[in-house]
Amino acid sequence: MTVKVNDSCIGCGACESVCGEVFKVEDVATVNESAVADNIDCVKEAADACPVGAIEVE
Ligand code: SF4
Repeated sequence: MTVKVNDSCIGCGACESVCGEVFKVEDVATVNESAVADNIDCVKEAADACPVGAIEVE
């Protein structure tokens, strides 16, 4: 599974709140790829929580 944050990100911090193992937010969100496999459920929750649909899960 691949997780990306696209250019729509507004840096709101919601994804880090939901799934801090994978997402870190400074100006925009970044993805810790090595943590994705162990955190699929919260990655999906974060994608649902993102207000601008910036988290792409493939
Ligand atoms: S929830 Fe979406 S908009 Fe907010 S920081 Fe995360 S990726 Fe960016």
